[in-house]
Amino acid sequence: MTENKRQFRAIKGTRDILPPDSALWNWFEQTARNTFESYNFREIRLPIFEETELFARSVGADTDIVSKEMFTFNIGHDAESKEEPSQTYSLRPEATASVVRSYIEHRMQTFPGNLKLYYVGPMFRRERPQKGRYRQFYQIGAEVLGQSDAAAIDAEVIEMLMTFFKRADLTRTTLYINSIGDKNCRPQYVEKLREELRKVADRIGPDSQRRIETNPLRVLDSKLPEEQAIIGKLPRISDHLCDECREHFAKLKEELRLRGIAYEENWRLVRGLDYYTRTTFEVIAEGLGSQNAVCGGGRYDGLVELLGGPPTKGIGFAIGTDRAILSLQESGKLPSLPALAVFVAWMGQAAYLTAVNIAQKLREAGLAVELPPEEMKFKRSLALADKLGARYALIIGEDEVNSGTFTLKRLADSDQKKLSKFDLLEYLESERRDTRA
Ligand code: ATP
Ligand code: MG
Repeated sequence: MTENKRQFRAIKGTRDILPPDSALWNWFEQTARNTFESYNFREIRLPIFEETELFARSVGADTDIVSKEMFTFNIGHDAESKEEPSQTYSLRPEATASVVRSYIEHRMQTFPGNLKLYYVGPMFRRERPQKGRYRQFYQIGAEVLGQSDAAAIDAEVIEMLMTFFKRADLTRTTLYINSIGDKNCRPQYVEKLREELRKVADRIGPDSQRRIETNPLRVLDSKLPEEQAIIGKLPRISDHLCDECREHFAKLKEELRLRGIAYEENWRLVRGLDYYTRTTFEVIAEGLGSQNAVCGGGRYDGLVELLGGPPTKGIGFAIGTDRAILSLQESGKLPSLPALAVFVAWMGQAAYLTAVNIAQKLREAGLAVELPPEEMKFKRSLALADKLGARYALIIGEDEVNSGTFTLKRLADSDQKKLSKFDLLEYLESERRDTRA
């Protein structure tokens, strides 16, 4: 028998987020939570798989996401379960469908006011993996569901998004907005677009040709250089909005201006999901190459009804965390995150008990402390403290135990202080306050 030395690796398109990057991820997500909660949004935790049908109905069976990007499986027949053997499930490619499913299931229309929810977690799409595009990726999203479609809601959602990016120091961004009309005006526009596209069909690529019949709006999204001049001459939705949609869009822009949010209009911004109406928006960031969209969002007023719920208005966005973090890393503007504060360099069994006690006290005070589990030679101990990036080494030998004073060595400049147990905690805490301020 040959020994199987096969090494396992993360599946293509998935990755491990290791320290220290994981600290940056946590900080980024925590900054989102804090910002969203300051706008009175609250978290919803959702399953990561749902019935395939839910996504087919909401995202749209003809979209790229549903037609070719979902991970779908069935649970198989189990004699004791009443589940249909043919029932298929999909790993969620996005979360709005689940939020809406949950809204209907739990009759959240009976909750007071507009429902403001956010979520954080992984999504799954079977795409070709490349920089900024993964098969398991992460989103932070927010949704507002309720009876009102006031443009002030759209503006607040966008303000919250841009405020979060500012707090996370993701500032080299551009916000694009558009209105893609509603069921009263979009069908006529789409027909008009289709007519114009048919006239130029022989001059556009096969993808765009196919979309003339299936989804002409998506042609506007084309990045092919040879199609740009043709697309530039196509009819624009802004010239075909009904009065209500035009007013809503004008109000949104006014609201954004009064909130001090910079934006650019982009008539070609259509988004790839079927459920959008009126307001659509996208944020792009620098340093990402062609995968530069870090957030997509928009209004979806018909979606709750489409999934069998009561008439409800909705708007939301989803931030691509992987790309946002990449952009932050490229910008080099990373926050200084809490690191190892104290390495306890203890020597001799007589010092061990004191070392354990002091480590407990410092940890209780919220400091990160490394206590070597086995005795180490003094030099090796300090070398390890340095490599681990500790701010301080706390030296505890037999002499220190006897005298009750300890040496605290700042590793950056080798500055040393002798402190009693009591002063030690006080000193470290005040020093921490100063470095945070
Ligand atoms: P793209 O045009 O880049 O494929 P999308 O329109 O499919 O994006 P949405 O469904 O609107 O994206 O999702 C919102 C955000 O989620 C995107 O702006 C992006 O930042 C992120 N995102 C989408 N797909 C992936 C992926 N496969 N890997 C990493 N991030 C992704
Ligand atoms: Mg996509």
